[in-house]
Amino acid sequence: MPREASRGLNSAINVCRLRGAQMTPLRQGVLKALWSADRPLGAYDLRDLVEKAFDRQIPAPSIYRILDFLCEQGVATRIESLNAYVACGHPERDHACVFLVCEACGDATEIENPKVEKLISEDAKRLGFVVKHQVVEMSGLCAPCQQAS
Ligand SMILES: [Zn+2]
Ligand SMILES: [Zn+2]
Repeated sequence: MPREASRGLNSAINVCRLRGAQMTPLRQGVLKALWSADRPLGAYDLRDLVEKAFDRQIPAPSIYRILDFLCEQGVATRIESLNAYVACGHPERDHACVFLVCEACGDATEIENPKVEKLISEDAKRLGFVVKHQVVEMSGLCAPCQQAS
């Protein structure tokens, strides 16, 4: 696991702990699998990885419950268009997760732009809408895939 990823993983675990959320070994295992991956992972891919890491079978509903928990904690995000999950790069603060999703390779890059966040919040506020979590997905082709085509 690259150093940057293990730092991200540790800070995500700390964020959850500081909030008093219980980080069971299995929850940490799923989070670790997300941080170790270089692309968004579906629930079943995650289950395979975690089963291998823990050397035992894990029922799919448990994986979904853990993913729900991690998303609720803001340390993971579901990418609807891919039906897959990624670790959130900066869980220590409330933010909009803005993803550039490549249609060819399935890579998802999270970009951070407070301006986008502010625009969405302001529009929502005007409509009297209370935003709990912002996830913006943009689909297209990443730079390497554009070159390949
Ligand atoms: Zn995020
Ligand atoms: Zn791509």
